[in-house]
Parts: sequence; C-alpha cells; structure tokens
Amino acid sequence: MPPIPMGEPARPRREPILSVRNLETHFLLDEGVVRAVDGTSFDLFSKQTLGIVGESGCGKSVTARSILGIVESPGKVVGGEVMLRRDGAREMIDLAKLDPKGDRYRAIRGAEIALVFQEPMSSFSAYHTVGNQIIEAIRLHQPLTKKQARNKAIDLLHMVGVPKPDRRIDEYSFELSGGLRQRVMVAMALSSDPRILIADEPTTALDVTTQAQVLDLLRQLQDERDLAIILITHDMGVIAEMADDVVVMYLGKEVENGPVDDIFHNPKHPYTRSLLNSIPSILARPRSKLSTIEGSIPHPYARPPGCPFHPRCTVAIPGLCDSQTPRFLPMGDRQGVSCFLHHGPSGQSMPSGKDTGARHDAV
Ligand code: SF4
Repeated sequence: MPPIPMGEPARPRREPILSVRNLETHFLLDEGVVRAVDGTSFDLFSKQTLGIVGESGCGKSVTARSILGIVESPGKVVGGEVMLRRDGAREMIDLAKLDPKGDRYRAIRGAEIALVFQEPMSSFSAYHTVGNQIIEAIRLHQPLTKKQARNKAIDLLHMVGVPKPDRRIDEYSFELSGGLRQRVMVAMALSSDPRILIADEPTTALDVTTQAQVLDLLRQLQDERDLAIILITHDMGVIAEMADDVVVMYLGKEVENGPVDDIFHNPKHPYTRSLLNSIPSILARPRSKLSTIEGSIPHPYARPPGCPFHPRCTVAIPGLCDSQTPRFLPMGDRQGVSCFLHHGPSGQSMPSGKDTGARHDAV
C-alpha cells in the first residue's frame, strides 16, 4: 500500500498503523524560522517498508524525530497529525498532541515505535557495556528481573546474529566493529517488541558487505515479526532493494510518493529523476562522469519562493515555478506529485501517463 497523498483516504480494506498528515516541524532561531518539515503526509501499514528519500537537509531525519517526539530544541512540531493505532486498539491517538516528555509518549516510544540511528557509536554510552544498555531498555517497558532481562538481551543479540552473545553482552561499544554495533543497536531497538521500526540511514557508515548484511537482517526481522519499517536514506539503491513504497522529500516537503516500481520506472518529479540519474551504474563506461544534481540545496533561511526545487530544476517554467507553489496532487491510484508539469489547465492533476511533454499546455 502506498503513502496516501494529502487529504486522500486510505484504501478501505487495510488500515494504516501510522498516519502522518500535514506534519510541520519548525526550528525557531534568532536568524529566523527554519521549516525543516513543511507539510508531509504518508501512511504506514503493517509489514510495509516505506522509504523516505532525499538529500541531506531535506527533512527526513526531523520527520522521524517528530514521530518519536524527540525533536531537539529549538525545534518543535507546530502543525499536523501523527496518528498511531496502538496494538489492538480501534481508535488512533494523535502523538502530535501528547507532551513529548510525558508518561504516555514515553510508554509508546521504544515500546511501540523504535529507532535505529545512523551512527551507533554516538548512540551508545561509552561508560556502560552494551548489555547493560539493552537490559535497561528492556526493563524500561517490561517488568523483568535483571537476570531475566539479561537472558532476554542475550537472546536478542543471538537473534540479530551477534556471535558469542553471552560474551559480547559484557563488552563496550568501542570494542565492537561497525557492523556488530549496528546489530546491537537493532537488538536494543527490538527489545520491547515494537510494531514500527524507524531506521535512519542504518547502513550509511558501513562498508558495502556489512551494509548488505544489515539490510538482510532488517528484512528477516520484518518477516519474523510483521514489522512496519520506515527506512530513511539518501541512497536510491537502498530504496530499490528494501522499500515497498517511497516518499521523496525536498526542503522539508514531500514532492512525490508512490510504489517503488512506479517511482523507479515512471518518476514524475524532476527531483526524483535527478536522484535516480545520480545512481552509479555498473554498466557505465570506465571513468565516465557521474551525473549529479545541479546546484545545491538552498540555505534553510533562504528558502526560494514558488516551487522549492525551481533554482535547480532544468525544466522549470519561468514566471510560474519561481512565483507559485505547486499543490500535491494524486496521479492515478497510487502515486502523487507536487509539480506544475502535472497540473492540468485548471490546476487539477493531469491523467496518469501524461508527462513533461505536456508541460507547456498544462499551465
Ligand atoms: Fe521544476 Fe516547476 Fe516542477 Fe518545480 S514545479 S519541479 S520547478 S517544473
């Protein structure tokens, strides 16, 4: 099931377990307001892997932190909904309305939604063994004795493929390789049997072989535990390998979403196309130049008017894209895009399949 464009109802037969609507997270700084997340919407379903992709600074990680209620000050969720269906519950609760430091949020964070960070080295305390940190995470949500929690921690380490877990449990994070640290981080995230796992660039700091192993591990755990995964990455290769559906973000906005096959074979947004073109190809001629996206992401305080991508867009329409903001429109059943190339004469979406060739007629 794809992420649903803003305002669209979910498919009737399947209910999302997490529904984010028009999420806005701003950082209120002396220099001005940084709109790190500026109206993002998507749905997440059980057993689904939803990829959120974009360059650094596009709002992916802040989206994850907003869902978990761990946005660092002076950041704040200022609008939108983060609706969570708790285990076995019919009604959804809006996490955006809870106090991020309150008991209700604490009971959900870690227990129902867990996070795997990009760099586990900085996420573990160097003063405590990894075992003690997992045991603490287990006992935060489950009434187990220390011995029971230790046994569960060893089981978890075994489950994520840490060799000799009964010995590794007493080691410190700096004694482990990058791949093992990431496995331990996954074990800690799963310590309270969450239904949703948010993996924020989980393989970026790893070599290619270890990266493949960690991705395999996530897939295996998803199958075994019916996990829903939000996978945050800048790497379209990881998206192709892992995701069922994709949200493409640029400057805090969702610019395109849809099933991974549609996004890869029929991308609608020029930014999505640029991301796809910048994937290195094994078939490329030796020493041929890699395609890159022109220009760079604007400074957060210098957000351009109109379409946020227009300064870098090679097919921008002068007089329109630099002054007006395109609406996010559904394209067919499962895709959505925010680009004037796909707006019809009266601002509605073009029929699916019409493409950039129609752009000048479309405005
Ligand atoms: Fe490019 Fe205009 Fe589409 Fe923005 S709205 S992506 S500038 S064509």
